[in-house]
Amino acid sequence: MFDNLSEKLDKALHVLKGHGQITEINVAETLKEVRRALLDADVNFKIAKSFTNRVKEKALGENVLTTLQPGQLMVKIVKDELTELMGGDAAGVNLSGNPSVILMSGLQGSGKTTFSGKLANYLKNKKTKKPLLVACDVYRPAAINQLHVVGEQIGVEVYSEEGNQDPVAIAKNAVAHAKKNGCNVVIVDTAGRLAVDEQMMTEIANIHKAISPEETLFVVDSMTGQDAVNTAKAFNDVLNFDGVILTKLDGDTRGGAAISIKSVVDKPIKFIGTGEKMEAIDVFYPSRMADRILGMGDVVSLVERAQEQFDEEEARKLQKKIAKNQFGFDDFLNQIQQVKKMGNIKDLMGMIPGASKALKGMDVDDDAFKGIEAIIYSMTPDERSNPTVLNASRKKRIAKGSGTSIQEVNQLLKQFNQMSKMMKMMQGGGGRKMMQMMNR
Ligand code: GDP
Repeated sequence: MFDNLSEKLDKALHVLKGHGQITEINVAETLKEVRRALLDADVNFKIAKSFTNRVKEKALGENVLTTLQPGQLMVKIVKDELTELMGGDAAGVNLSGNPSVILMSGLQGSGKTTFSGKLANYLKNKKTKKPLLVACDVYRPAAINQLHVVGEQIGVEVYSEEGNQDPVAIAKNAVAHAKKNGCNVVIVDTAGRLAVDEQMMTEIANIHKAISPEETLFVVDSMTGQDAVNTAKAFNDVLNFDGVILTKLDGDTRGGAAISIKSVVDKPIKFIGTGEKMEAIDVFYPSRMADRILGMGDVVSLVERAQEQFDEEEARKLQKKIAKNQFGFDDFLNQIQQVKKMGNIKDLMGMIPGASKALKGMDVDDDAFKGIEAIIYSMTPDERSNPTVLNASRKKRIAKGSGTSIQEVNQLLKQFNQMSKMMKMMQGGGGRKMMQMMNR
């Protein structure tokens, strides 16, 4: 996420490192680079200019009052300004209605249907919500199908009306259906076009009028940069929407849309999409995003993502197994599956401070676990639960079966043993001991 921008800002802010003091000259030099980084990230020219002007004012103003090093001070000011630019505080979704109606708008391909599913899944996992998904794209039967597939995948009911060509009527009927069936959130997925056109705008405006949603969300593909901002403006003029959803932030988007959209339409970014999987949704926190852009990672989101995905019951079972020395390769495999559910690996690594930089140019993807999985799948159930039986001939067989080498099998066994030892230590109240060991 935003690799290029992060790297350029890092370089720009480096200019001040080693300088004992902030001066007009070194600030100007730094900010020239910051502005260039923003423009390269496809941030609107005016926004980039006013951003650097504000940073300059603050830097020269605060300079005398602080004990921070110039480099640190500049990072702090840039971080605060970036946070402000992206919206200040995180904005929630209004779920006060019964049912609460959420209307999705946006161009075709922006990720509306995928996000509708993600949001339904996210709310369903909150336990108190029973969402209903509504297919209002009457022009593309494939789109209705797609929503049904998504609904099935996440276990959420999908409302559609075959043959009905009137999306306004479908939306109204769906709300009535939700009331009757105890669904307290209705998520209406609408038709998009490839570009903004009048008919689409009129149609969504009519749906909006008919169902008076608590929340109208505008979904936009962050890869489209400045276009994203222009489309947002067009939709906002007609719908006066409540919030923006930025999708595809997992791709090599330059970040301009994320940084500019709030100040153009003055509506908060509420969620981001970071992958095609249903779990790849995050609440948008401007300050955490600023941290990520500045390469400071986002450990809070990482922990939250883990908490959402990890099953407490499973964790308890695992603890018991570790205590009894019964942790085996099936459990290891299970752990890998859980980590994979948390989302794209590269994206996760980006949440660890400094990791993005360290991983630059490295090919980290979901296939990272493939070799390990293949090795484990090539073991017999007995070998998986009792790895001590793995002698040389068994290892040879496993390497052959998994298309790997004996070295790779040995490497995995070594990692597995280390992991088991560490887990055992954590269990025995030795967490502190381990920390001491690691700090050595
Ligand atoms: P719609 O036409 O607006 O309903 O868009 P879709 O939901 O059909 O999404 C279009 C394409 O973008 C599909 O291939 C999705 O899998 C993909 N997509 C949606 N959201 C994301 C995201 O956050 N990350 C990535 N990488 N792909 C996404």
